[in-house]
Amino acid sequence: MIKVGLVGYGTIGKRVADAVAAQKDMKLAGVTAHTYSFNTEVAKQKGYRIFSIDGDSELKENGIKPDGTIKNLLEEVDIIVDATPKKVGKENLDNYYKPKKVKAIFQGGEKHETAGTSFVAQCNYNEALNRDYVRIVSCNTTGLCRTLDAVNKKYGIDSVHATMIRRGADPWDIYHGPINAIVPVLEMPSHHGPDVRTVLHNVEIFTTALSVPSTLMHIHAVTVDIKKKAKVDDVIEMFKNSTRIRVVRNAEHLRSTAEIMEFARDMGRLRGDMPEICIWKEAVGVISNSYNKLLYMQAVHQESDVVPENVDCIRAMTGFKDGAKSIEMTNKTFGIK
Ligand code: NAD
Repeated sequence: MIKVGLVGYGTIGKRVADAVAAQKDMKLAGVTAHTYSFNTEVAKQKGYRIFSIDGDSELKENGIKPDGTIKNLLEEVDIIVDATPKKVGKENLDNYYKPKKVKAIFQGGEKHETAGTSFVAQCNYNEALNRDYVRIVSCNTTGLCRTLDAVNKKYGIDSVHATMIRRGADPWDIYHGPINAIVPVLEMPSHHGPDVRTVLHNVEIFTTALSVPSTLMHIHAVTVDIKKKAKVDDVIEMFKNSTRIRVVRNAEHLRSTAEIMEFARDMGRLRGDMPEICIWKEAVGVISNSYNKLLYMQAVHQESDVVPENVDCIRAMTGFKDGAKSIEMTNKTFGIK
């Protein structure tokens, strides 16, 4: 059993904790509570052991007796998944993980350099094998890497241009926005393009991005210059046969991010999550003239697509060599293919 500790029990962390607890080859040693909230209450209800960060007075005031501090948790685990807000992961690396010589996984809010290796399981599982520190790339980068990797393997990529239409905030988040505006990211390229190259090292990619008043998923409009001629039906088949990608259709009335999220809830997915990247069948197109262009649109559930990646990364970093097998084991516990 791989003993896993979870530091940062928020949007991503609570999902990773549940995913770890569902694996037959892993044991969730405990989760941290930085502040007391409903998340702590749910962790307690689920029977997770709770470890404090900065003293435990707030927890005790609210009737939670911690099982120890983060330092005690570090002594019990083979690996930590750190899902704290951006930049805190780097501080935790310096203050806790390095001094205690504990392996750690970071999330997309941290810089690639913090870990030195960035990860999307179906693209570069082997790069994380036995590493001490690895970063799971952001939700947007994970979405781009999954589908571009499939395109690259089948057709070869000359270059990519993608525009990310990003949700303004997560559904629970009362602090961020916009509420009534469309906000372009005023840098060229947006950081997503260079970030994709930390995983798909040789793919030429240029990205632009904007934020919109929605909490339900991101959408990517992707244009790829491919090396070989492609047919729309073959591309759709390729996406259908790729892991962690779901082809959705107008005929199912899955025409929007709202309907995809409702579909995930109706399927009984935990928290109504959709960890697969959803590609619209009707929005796949090819242009074959003197050049070959592939166009598609995809939706990314920001709260959940990176969660299976964390599980596979735990296996890779603790020496499980068979990436395809790990993906299969993880997928089974999520009910995805
Ligand atoms: P979040 O704010 O929902 O959760 C962060 C958790 O960390 C909270 O429970 C908070 O109490 C805790 N925390 C804060 N400071 C801490 C500290 N010093 N020590 C321990 N715990 C602390 O954040 P999130 O959205 O889950 O993001 C976490 C990471 O995942 C970030 O790197 C983010 O960029 C990345 N990420 C987020 C999303 C998303 O859409 N939410 C998607 C992919 C990746």
